[in-house]
Amino acid sequence: MAVDDVDALPDRNAAKGFYSKYEPKEVLGRGGCSVVRRCIEKETGQEFAAKIIDLSDSSDTSILEGTQREVQILRLVAGHPYIIELHDVFESSTFIFLVFELCKNGELFDYLTSVVTLSEKKTKTIMKQLMEALKHVHNQSIVHRDLKPENILLDDNYNVKLTDFGFAKILTPGETLMELCGTPGYLAPELLRSNMIEGAPGYGMEVDLWACGVIMYTLLVGCPPFWHRKQMVMIRNIMEGKYSLQTPEWDDITDTPKDLISKLLVVDPQKRITVTEVMQHPFFQTVKVSVERPFNARKKFQFTILVVRAMVRIQRLRFTPEPLSLATARVDPYRLKALRKVLDQCAFRVYGHWVKKGEGQDRAALFQNYPKMDRPIIGSSNGPGPQFVLTPA
Ligand code: ADP
Ligand code: MG
Repeated sequence: MAVDDVDALPDRNAAKGFYSKYEPKEVLGRGGCSVVRRCIEKETGQEFAAKIIDLSDSSDTSILEGTQREVQILRLVAGHPYIIELHDVFESSTFIFLVFELCKNGELFDYLTSVVTLSEKKTKTIMKQLMEALKHVHNQSIVHRDLKPENILLDDNYNVKLTDFGFAKILTPGETLMELCGTPGYLAPELLRSNMIEGAPGYGMEVDLWACGVIMYTLLVGCPPFWHRKQMVMIRNIMEGKYSLQTPEWDDITDTPKDLISKLLVVDPQKRITVTEVMQHPFFQTVKVSVERPFNARKKFQFTILVVRAMVRIQRLRFTPEPLSLATARVDPYRLKALRKVLDQCAFRVYGHWVKKGEGQDRAALFQNYPKMDRPIIGSSNGPGPQFVLTPA
């Protein structure tokens, strides 16, 4: 069966169990050989998401075995608030149906495309939940191997639900992996090395922490760290750990999240921060000061006045725009935060549909603000002035 035909509802006889219990509805998402549909449990009227996996296209048993492994792992990691819950499984010779809890707010990927970037506070919430989910997974010696915003779903309250354990693997003590799997922009250097260099030592759970670094970077500034339109250059950038926290987008971001990213995107997996250490990083610590002091009415009053004054100043600050020098705006508009946000948001509003799933990298093209030298720039006499170059995938 062609991949397109997966959209057609599969033979009802092949999966009587599923159809007698659930009413399938619209498509929510797609994978390589699966379609995910919203469905309704007939008896309770409750909504779920059914991942319908087509086995008929595959001549070998790899998809069947892969799905059985996915189910085994989903059961091992079950019962965590930030991991997707598998509700039901139906298996026929041609299709497998995995019934999951429904995440009404879809993928973090689409959420990010709609808002362009996330604040530090929102990033902290999402990353903390992701790390808690990952800790639960790693505690059971399971490596996910495909962490990316497409596989992080958001429930009704915008809480994280980690999903897609299709590439996940249980590691035996001391075991290292060699297999090349995952999504290009999120691949860790040691995983690439295992495939490119003879005698490389293989990789382990550290690859998930690298992917978390890529995700966190992307959430904060909207574009991924290693992107290059030539994939080989991107792979070289990954292997050399070549990325920047100095571009204009980073100007308004504090040092704590930058420090965490720099500890996640460490080329040597042995020196990379672990999931337990991440949870203790200052980025996730809320400072609570509770010092017992005798009550002093005068001091309290003075302090209140200071707070009110500060509040008024902060409120007024919002209406005071950044000083905008015409000279800067003319040569480098992207340097000015106010203009940059407007430019990025406009670019996403017009060209956001170019950001393709499964690749995640062409998101960066919407942030490219330097001239592309292999094409003539219209309206410019070869001047080096900044320009958006928007390259559809
Ligand atoms: P694949 O292994 O084929 O990538 P996924 O399990 O990642 O399959 O599902 C593909 C897409 O379907 C997801 O990226 C998401 O958009 C959608 N999806 C999957 N599970 C759910 C769910 N429980 N609720 C809502 N949407 C879902
Ligand atoms: Mg997926």
